[in-house]
Amino acid sequence: MKKGVAKKGMATRAIHAGHDNQNDPHKPLITPIYQTASYGFETTEDLAAFYDKTSTRLSEYARYGTPTQRALEETLMALEGAEDAVVTSSGMSAICAAILAVADTGSQIVSLNEGYRGTFKAFDQHLSRLGIHTDYVSLGLDAIKKALDKNVRVLFIEIPTNPFLRLIDLTSAVALAKAKGITTVVDATFASPFNIQPLTYGADLVVHSVTKFLNGHNDTVAGAVLGSKELIEKVRGVRGLLGSNPDAHQCYLISRGIKTFPLRMDAHNRSALQIATYLEKHPKIERVWYPMLTSHPDFTLAQKYLKGGGGIVSFCVKAKNSSQEARFSAASAFLNALTIPTIGASLGGVESLIHQVSVMSYWDMDSAARLKASIQDNLIRFSVGLEDTEDLINDLANALEKI
Ligand code: PLP
Repeated sequence: MKKGVAKKGMATRAIHAGHDNQNDPHKPLITPIYQTASYGFETTEDLAAFYDKTSTRLSEYARYGTPTQRALEETLMALEGAEDAVVTSSGMSAICAAILAVADTGSQIVSLNEGYRGTFKAFDQHLSRLGIHTDYVSLGLDAIKKALDKNVRVLFIEIPTNPFLRLIDLTSAVALAKAKGITTVVDATFASPFNIQPLTYGADLVVHSVTKFLNGHNDTVAGAVLGSKELIEKVRGVRGLLGSNPDAHQCYLISRGIKTFPLRMDAHNRSALQIATYLEKHPKIERVWYPMLTSHPDFTLAQKYLKGGGGIVSFCVKAKNSSQEARFSAASAFLNALTIPTIGASLGGVESLIHQVSVMSYWDMDSAARLKASIQDNLIRFSVGLEDTEDLINDLANALEKI
């Protein structure tokens, strides 16, 4: 890391942290893509020194890391205020590596019952087979407190949650876990380090789908885990042996994307708030969820914990009647009429992405099960991109005319 960068503003950190190439004889401004699987040693003694951690060498084999990857990790550490970090091949591999680093067979996870469904599927379909079971609790400190018993090893919190952008009182939740020696893992993908840095509230590990706001260009999939040196060393061990390292080219693309991260986040925050405010007033909108709207159930917590509401707005369009069929067709008529946002998965990139949540994430469930999870067929999740806000609002207005 360039000297003194860690203490500078977020834009300076995003551009410079991790990219100190002064020792390279060619002094490249941009950290090169080390496209090599293996690294040579002049002598066996050099190799031994590498293993003894007495040499300055970073890499021996690309599954354990590359200089391109370490530059990205140092940038993320500077953004998140973390002692150490590992990047992984996806957000899912970051979550699984974090859990596997701290949980054993027989230990339990307590997770909020609202969040990214892929995470819950990994917990229920795979970690459960290793004897790591998950207890899902409703959002609230009482429910968390009740669930934290002696076998619980991990408290897993997504903030804000997918798709209703809910928040819990992080400081208090972390304190409940700490009192019992339980590790708190926070998935702050939706907020990104621009809007919240959970380690400052005492969380032990933060995970991100770097695919989203951090990379920001909808062109690569990656993840990260950040925290203390001690915990990250354990996560690094899991990542190295499960082989979920991102390759150097992927890391280069993300480092390039991150240079504009604070500028992009500021624009996402502003545009999404403007769009959420617009939608809330529209007669064809039933309800909007955006943390910075006073109507959001967690507005007060959002004021306390978030710098901005982020780039995601969830909303229900009004339907002819309250049947799921009517809700489904109102939402799909609206989505099909949009010309700027693309109907698709993911979020946090410069291109707007939008979808009907019941179809994109809950299509494998029947309608009754979806409703139990509060997923109505007219619920839409909009990842507000960086197109002109005015163009997006005009596009939404025109599409709402069609229903
Ligand atoms: N966490 C959250 C909150 C997500 O929304 C996602 C993906 O959408 C993930 C984790 C998984 O990330 P990835 O797709 O990079 O594996």
